[in-house]
Amino acid sequence: MKLMPKNRYIAFAIAGAILVFLAANAYFSCEAGRDRKRASAFSKSDFMESAKQEIDADFVKLQLQDRKEKAVGKRYHKIIKGNPDLKEIALTFDDGPHPKYTRELLDILKKYNVKATFFVVGKQAKKYPHLVKMQKRQGHVIGNHTYDHVNLLAVSTQEAFIQIKAAGKTIGALCGKPPHLFRPPGGNYNRAVIDIAEALGYTTVLWTANAGDCASISEGAIKWRIYSRLGSGGIILMHDGIQKTLDILPATIENLRSKGYKFVTIEEMLDHRHLKQQQGNIIDRIWEMLFIRGD
Ligand SMILES: [Zn+2]
Repeated sequence: MKLMPKNRYIAFAIAGAILVFLAANAYFSCEAGRDRKRASAFSKSDFMESAKQEIDADFVKLQLQDRKEKAVGKRYHKIIKGNPDLKEIALTFDDGPHPKYTRELLDILKKYNVKATFFVVGKQAKKYPHLVKMQKRQGHVIGNHTYDHVNLLAVSTQEAFIQIKAAGKTIGALCGKPPHLFRPPGGNYNRAVIDIAEALGYTTVLWTANAGDCASISEGAIKWRIYSRLGSGGIILMHDGIQKTLDILPATIENLRSKGYKFVTIEEMLDHRHLKQQQGNIIDRIWEMLFIRGD
């Protein structure tokens, strides 16, 4: 049927209105039914499976990326390491909370009086809210690790925004205030990811040592990965939800303490970024300059 000009304008107007409605609906559905939406979008990949398959970036890769950014004058709102002049280390645990392992992990940290930083997955936090509250109660810092533990380089910027915002809302409701630390799964980030996180009030946190505890490697290999990248201002990436992590943690804490390291949260590390206190011994300094220093 041939439309008259006036009818054609009406048809265009209706089509336009429908498109605007659909776009608005798609956007605001994240507010109204975020959990349902997320669950359906990612129902095929169980979060723990995705975490097991996660290949977290090694510090060398993160450091190279950091240097490239600085070489072209980019200053992203992120932390890759703490203050190299302070002999302090931050233990960070990703992917929890986990119904079987989180309590035991907290018990170990309590026994050694270590405060750590947990980058929790929003979906897990929603499922096990009491564990997040327990982490908070015991003085640990809770950060955002997206809602579904997705590779943020493999999704749209809108999806990345939704993932970070949804996890933040869940964590904020449990902790009484919104989190301000964010870690992208796998260490996968680009300018858009960092900018979204910053716009939502986050500092993006990466690491200096990836323990590799979620990979199929021996305890010896995990220890090597921790100690070979050891240095002042170190941020150690481990996972909440893995037996091997619990097995090596007590000895790791004792060992690092015996080397003179103090354990701090990422919040404390950020507060100490510009302090100048101790210079450490000369061997430590040379080692850090050669292998760890990223600035
Ligand atoms: Zn992760």
